[in-house]
Amino acid sequence: MSDAQNKETRGFQAEVKQLLQLMIHSMYSNKEVFLRELISNASDALDTLRFQGLKDESLYENDPDLAIRVEYDPEARTVTVSDNGIGMSREEVIERIGTIAKSGTKAFLESLSGDEKKDARLIGQFGVGFYSAFIVAERVVVTTRRAGERDAVRWESDGGGEYTIETVGKPERGTEVVLHLREGEDEFLDGHRLRGLIRQYSDHIAFPIRMRAEPSGEDDEPGDWEQVNRGAPLWARPKSEIDDEEYKGFYKHIAHDFEEPLAWTHNKVEGSQEYTSLLYIPRRAPFDLWDPQRRPQGVKLYVQRVFILDDAEQLVPRYLRFVRGVVDSNDLPLNVSREILQSNRVIDRIRAGSVKKLLGLLQDMAAKRPEDYATFWGEFGAVLKEGIVEDPENREAIAGLLRFPSTHDDTVPGTVSLADYIGRMQEGQDKLYYITADSVAAAKNSPHLEVFRKKGIEVLLLTDRVDEWVMAHLTEYDGKSFQHVAKGALDLGEAESEDEKAAKEKRETESRELLERIKTALGERVGEVRITHRLTDSPACLVADEAGLSSHLQRILKEAGQAVPEMQPHLEINPDHPLVTRLDAEKSGERFDEWAQLLFEQAVLAEGGELEDPATFVRRMNHILLTLSGNGDGEDARAGSGDGGAAA
Ligand code: ADP
Ligand code: MG
Repeated sequence: MSDAQNKETRGFQAEVKQLLQLMIHSMYSNKEVFLRELISNASDALDTLRFQGLKDESLYENDPDLAIRVEYDPEARTVTVSDNGIGMSREEVIERIGTIAKSGTKAFLESLSGDEKKDARLIGQFGVGFYSAFIVAERVVVTTRRAGERDAVRWESDGGGEYTIETVGKPERGTEVVLHLREGEDEFLDGHRLRGLIRQYSDHIAFPIRMRAEPSGEDDEPGDWEQVNRGAPLWARPKSEIDDEEYKGFYKHIAHDFEEPLAWTHNKVEGSQEYTSLLYIPRRAPFDLWDPQRRPQGVKLYVQRVFILDDAEQLVPRYLRFVRGVVDSNDLPLNVSREILQSNRVIDRIRAGSVKKLLGLLQDMAAKRPEDYATFWGEFGAVLKEGIVEDPENREAIAGLLRFPSTHDDTVPGTVSLADYIGRMQEGQDKLYYITADSVAAAKNSPHLEVFRKKGIEVLLLTDRVDEWVMAHLTEYDGKSFQHVAKGALDLGEAESEDEKAAKEKRETESRELLERIKTALGERVGEVRITHRLTDSPACLVADEAGLSSHLQRILKEAGQAVPEMQPHLEINPDHPLVTRLDAEKSGERFDEWAQLLFEQAVLAEGGELEDPATFVRRMNHILLTLSGNGDGEDARAGSGDGGAAA
């Protein structure tokens, strides 16, 4: 095939074009990242070659000296990064540089604001990768040959809308990226500057990064290749020799993140099993953390320092899926596959050990760096919570890491720990009270909190969708049980005095007749009608059975299209409320029914529930208002039928 025949010009995917323009502008103040990104890609390509070479030695093509080279040419004004890694075939080049395969790319681009600083952060988080070359280069030429293949390809673009691609010859396998620098970027045509950047950002790269020795004196002969970086995998070095900057740099490399991590834990385990783990908590959730199509990104698995696979989901449980890092085992075979990892005792023990370390890391952060912990909780709290359900063995430890808004501190997404709560429990209080609702505002204003407010008892305000599910599994903490304030009979334990208890009983007997009349009026719409001990200001509220679904959960399930068993809520009424006293005095049976319905319906609304027939409710309400304001008997405004307005 001749070159001319197979040279083709192709357009970038629209998203790439857009991203490139944005990146060149917003990332300019961090322009030196291009070197780190290109070296990072070279290192990944070497890792892949080494892994595939385990099965097929011919891929090495008799050149086992894996390395990265960085060169510059002041005359041509180019900087070149090359590797003898796995390389790319023509199809791979088209697929990988020219398109963005990440799900959610469109939404990501839409979220960019035009504010350069903010956008730079977002773009960094998205992953600047290969395209960062265009921040400093007006033209980029990639020549690459996949290991074991005959033909190489040359890809070339000025970062506008198009690129060309053609088949060429290239004796060495791997990839060469040549940057033709833009005007004004001559600072990178300097060996000293390039060496500085490599040591600063890429020292941890496990392969040698080589540059030619600077020419000495008069002779212009190119110097010998010399290694610039340290070249040992960071995790294999003793902790005491690694400084924070190196840990951070390594994180950026493996996590493809632009920001610094929040925390990390580095452990060497020796004895019956030997492995090293270096695990990081990112500072920010990836923009697609909740995207169901997001490919899992997790921890990289190495065996005896050979990269084996990315995203080894088995190394950390799902509820820690935001963790990034490396595990390097000495006990697994080099030919280990994903299938083998599924049920493997070595992996199980590594996972159990990693979970302990990570939970410990979070506990430590919570105790010593509360602000960072609040950042963590805001980003990943809703994921960590899943651990309560998924990991019964560590439930108590995970529960200790939970944070909630409460009636005492309603900061969202929560700063109150269960220990904080227990620390300020009232004398005689033996339960941890919580309420579930759609929002903190709805939770805070729920009538169910009235008695708690009066007595100064703290209530946790749970507003995350997963909370109902989590609380179904979290029944106890530190020996104390949880109680949903809108479920079951309210028993404030010893927080209630003997006098209060006696008064309660008296009211129950006195109100028996009223309760029966209301029950008759409401029929099947409610379970029991009883006297409340929860309300001080509201006339009525709804209560679920202890074992029943809260009305909030019923709503969530219905919205999710799930069948929800019909539940009759219990109606609790406040006999001291003027509306209830008025109802008690009502002689007309018809009007009594109407008031009773209204009492029930407003209790549904106060819970954040929906009425099945809001129109009837409104007519009923208007009728009563008109009657009260002395505007006749309100015949015209009356509800068409007496039995409308069933509850949600
Ligand atoms: P990322 O590294 O996060 O995947 P990049 O934009 O840096 O994203 O690179 C895109 C893809 O291009 C890589 O995933 C890889 O498949 C391919 N690639 C880039 N550089 C090289 C290289 N030097 N050798 C082989 N493949 C490469
Ligand atoms: Mg990359």
